[in-house]
Amino acid sequence: MLTRQPVLVLNQNYQPLNICDVRRAVSLMGRGKAESLLTSGHLLRSPSAWHELPAVIRLVYLVKRPLHRRRLSRREVFMRDGLRCLYCGARTRDLTLDHVMPRSQGGAHSWDNVVSACKSCNHRKAGRTPLQAGMKLLIEPREPRPNPYAFFHAERVQQSWRPFLPWLDDTPVAGALNGATPAGALAPRVGALAAGGD
Ligand SMILES: [Zn+2]
Repeated sequence: MLTRQPVLVLNQNYQPLNICDVRRAVSLMGRGKAESLLTSGHLLRSPSAWHELPAVIRLVYLVKRPLHRRRLSRREVFMRDGLRCLYCGARTRDLTLDHVMPRSQGGAHSWDNVVSACKSCNHRKAGRTPLQAGMKLLIEPREPRPNPYAFFHAERVQQSWRPFLPWLDDTPVAGALNGATPAGALAPRVGALAAGGD
């Protein structure tokens, strides 16, 4: 459906901010909150005229960029720790999640208390702290930096947006540009725009 087409939303300073659908983009423009930087080539008829639908819009005001904190998941922890055991340094596909201060001793399920551990180290440490088990962490676990482009889902990136996303070549997202956009992947995500006082 035409009104479900994804539109790239840039902040006033041209930083990519979000993706919304055409209906939302036209609404923002109609209320003077955004301007069209690139049209999609599609036309939409309103009672009074034909309108060129936007592919990229820019907000006329600056939105404080939402921070996309990394979700604490097994995969993100393994990635943060470089796919290795933080006790012995072994790189293995068979990683487990270890609570440094064990849950049974009041340890939190938080970025600074979970690490990747190989099965052998996890087994050896059991329900003890590293000190109790005589083991040492290679590095102190911390929360990884937020991902500023977390809102981009590779399959939704449109070829026409490319000039507005100069960093794209450096990211895994670039690979998706060769693929077609599945219609089911176009669900609008407009949460970040709520900060705009809409
Ligand atoms: Zn290990």
